[in-house]
Amino acid sequence: MKLLIFDIDGTLINVGEAEARAFQTALKEHYSIENVDTNWDIYENRTDTGIVYEILNEHLGHPPSKNQIFEILDTYVTLLEKEFSCRKRPGKETAGTSQFLRALHSRQEFMMTIATGNIKKAAQLKLSWFKMAQYFIGGGFADDAYKRLDILRAAIERANSVNRVPFGKENAFFIGDNLSDFFSARALGIRFIGICNSKKKANQFSSEGVKIIFPNFMKKVNIIEVILS
Ligand SMILES: [Mg+2]
Repeated sequence: MKLLIFDIDGTLINVGEAEARAFQTALKEHYSIENVDTNWDIYENRTDTGIVYEILNEHLGHPPSKNQIFEILDTYVTLLEKEFSCRKRPGKETAGTSQFLRALHSRQEFMMTIATGNIKKAAQLKLSWFKMAQYFIGGGFADDAYKRLDILRAAIERANSVNRVPFGKENAFFIGDNLSDFFSARALGIRFIGICNSKKKANQFSSEGVKIIFPNFMKKVNIIEVILS
C-alpha cells in the first residue's frame, strides 16, 4: 500500500485572487488591518494559521490567542465560500487532476490524503467545490500546526492510524508545488513529487535536489509508474 499525500493550492487546484480578497476582508472586518502583503512567501509559516499569527502578532504587539486567530479564519472561510458561489468557476484544477485522482482511487494499492497550509474548513470547501473531497482520507491541516512540517507529520500520523500497518517511509509520497513542501518531505525522509509548470521553477526545484518533477497530472500512467517503482 502506498500513501500519497497531496498539497492543495498550486498542486491540485488554483483559486487565484478569491482567496487573497477573502483573507484581506476578514482582517479588515475584525481588526481594521489593511494593505496586508498577500505574497505568502514572505511569511515565516506559509499556512493559514501561521500567516494570521504573524500579522496579528505584529498588529497587537503580542502573540494572538487561538480564538483570535480562528475568528478571523472563520470569517475568511465564509467570505471565500461567497466568492466561490458568485462566480461560475472559482479558479481551475491543475491539468489532469480529476482523472489522475479517479485513476488512483479505483485501485486498491493507494491511500490518498492531504497535507495543506489551509485550515480544515477551507480545505474541505475547496475540495468539495472542485468535487475532489471523496478521494481523500484524514489529512493534516493548519488547525494542527503553524508549520508545514508538523502538518505533514500530522497527516502521516492520521493515515497510519487508519491503515492496518504504519506506512514505511519508502511507501509515502508528498506531492506539492512549493519548495517548503519538498523540505518538509525531505525532513521526514519521505519521497517527493514536484508539480510545476514553469521552467524557472523546475530548474529551482532540481537545483534544490527535487528528483521527480511533473508539469501537471496529464501523464498519469508515468506518475503512477514512478510511484510504484
Ligand atoms: Mg501549494
